[in-house]
Amino acid sequence: MRGSANLCSMLAVRPRKTPRTPLLRVRRQCLVCEARTIAEEDADTFSIGEPCPHCGAPTERLEILSRRIVAAQRNPSAAALGRLGGLKGGPARAAALSAERRRAIASAAARKRWARRRKES
Ligand SMILES: [Zn+2]
Repeated sequence: MRGSANLCSMLAVRPRKTPRTPLLRVRRQCLVCEARTIAEEDADTFSIGEPCPHCGAPTERLEILSRRIVAAQRNPSAAALGRLGGLKGGPARAAALSAERRRAIASAAARKRWARRRKES
């Protein structure tokens, strides 16, 4: 495999950095007081159930006015937890390996990196 030809470009797959979700702009009507509202909601929101802003009763989706794709919101707590896990694995592995094994792995990695550099230039 040559330098710039990565797996995504060979398969014609668009690399996706942030997850994307469809967002709907909808007209809803309250099942009790019949108040009509326009709201934005996720595409997987139930068509009946969102509470009415006036009386709190369930509303029904009457129509979808528009639909757009937005970058999905990350849960900041989950992201922080994932980061904690990421910062634990490396040091734990380093502590578990012997000095010789660590040196052998680092040396093999350096050899690979420099082999790739030479091919590219
Ligand atoms: Zn209502």
